[in-house]
Amino acid sequence: MSANMDVVGTPAMHEVLSRYRLITCPARHYLRSDTPKFNNENCNICWLGGIEDISKLSELSSDFVGLDVANGYTIKFVDAVKRLREKCPNATVVAGNVATADMTQELVLAGADIVKVGLGPGSVCTTRIKTGIGYPQLSAVIECADAAHGLSGHIIADGGCANSGDIVKAFAGGADFVMIGGMLAGHDECDSSVENGKMSYYGMASKSAMEKHNHNNEYRGAEGKTVEVEYRGPVEDTIKDILSGVRSACTYVGADKLKALSKCTTFVRVNRTHNTIYGDR
Ligand code: 5GP
Repeated sequence: MSANMDVVGTPAMHEVLSRYRLITCPARHYLRSDTPKFNNENCNICWLGGIEDISKLSELSSDFVGLDVANGYTIKFVDAVKRLREKCPNATVVAGNVATADMTQELVLAGADIVKVGLGPGSVCTTRIKTGIGYPQLSAVIECADAAHGLSGHIIADGGCANSGDIVKAFAGGADFVMIGGMLAGHDECDSSVENGKMSYYGMASKSAMEKHNHNNEYRGAEGKTVEVEYRGPVEDTIKDILSGVRSACTYVGADKLKALSKCTTFVRVNRTHNTIYGDR
């Protein structure tokens, strides 16, 4: 699924991703805009908003909605998930972000069907540098998937994938969905322009995002950055590349479907000596 970020959560991205039955999470400003830009009839779309968007989310005709905050570890957030569940009894509800088993359980018990997992792994995230807060993403995925599956819930591994191999590892760790931002940046379908063969991609807590959305201009510390990525043309080729990587991984391990990937794989701890000799091979 595409991240709900300004640059990649666009209607043009949705057009292409839905052809491959991939899910688009529209950038939040589309949820708040009065003119609908996305075709809600199309099921491959998941609307995510903040606590203040609960009414808006429940008014949508979408059956795939959720609450997405930087820190899912607050009572206020858990209460908000309960409220969204009450308002949308039949919808598939997403909630995050968290990175540990206990909080995954708490969100599932509060009514979330899918928990979004990731604290600090994003390619344009500076939370770990700014605050020292974070959790190694593969460990978070393994831990949270276990907790969610035990309660018949699901998880989204959100952030930190730089190539199709990383997406495979997320599925292998137990993720049911993988959310990507940076891998979709730099394409024609992005909300960004090409300059000197590069396109910019910025975090939703970066200065760029704040300048775009923070209308009353009050100062807020940034926990995201802006990067210039290589312009890569249409996103369709990248999608085909990702899908072929995932399919190939399934054949390597003998998984007949994506769901079987985690049962057919195992992780091997690589020690420092191995790393020194072989790099990350
Ligand atoms: P990527 O695929 O680029 O590695 O990660 C995308 C994810 O990074 C998003 O889905 C979101 O969870 C996270 N993210 C997006 N913008 C920001 C930001 O400004 N700060 C932080 N800490 N995380 C961000």
